[in-house]
Amino acid sequence: MLYLSDELAVRIRTHAAESYPHECCGAVLGSDSGSWREVLDLFPLVNRRDDSPRNRFVITPEDFRAAEQTARKGGLEVIGWYHSHPDHPARPSEYDREHAWPWYSYVIASVMQHLPKDMKSWRLKDDRTEFDEEEMEITPFGTINGGRVNAGEGDHPDRASALRGQARKR
Ligand SMILES: [Zn+2]
Repeated sequence: MLYLSDELAVRIRTHAAESYPHECCGAVLGSDSGSWREVLDLFPLVNRRDDSPRNRFVITPEDFRAAEQTARKGGLEVIGWYHSHPDHPARPSEYDREHAWPWYSYVIASVMQHLPKDMKSWRLKDDRTEFDEEEMEITPFGTINGGRVNAGEGDHPDRASALRGQARKR
């Protein structure tokens, strides 16, 4: 299960719509409990595929390092990657499968004629033959952390550390 706040879902969809007709991409930062994951921040990336930006995206080693560093600074980890599918459904392409790694959550946002549509999350099987859809829950009030609704309101950047502070107090 992947938990995602409304606000972060909107940020992915907005990035996807703004990039249309090109693909957008970025890193999904959060925490992984083993049985469920929560998205706590996003790290938008520049799609560096100049040859085919409409239907390809690439994550360079530099992007990877930058995403990891940003995640660590916030006490988070890179739990996945998001990208958009302009005028295509929110399911992974063969290109996506060839370039994906197991374990990560791949969030795909479909954009049809400029308008954000479905958003789905996928996990590559360990043998890399195919993706399984990952259940995703978009929560209205922020993040559910182990069944506890985040008390934080709106968009403030220290929410992740506030969450961790709460977790320590328990
Ligand atoms: Zn794709």
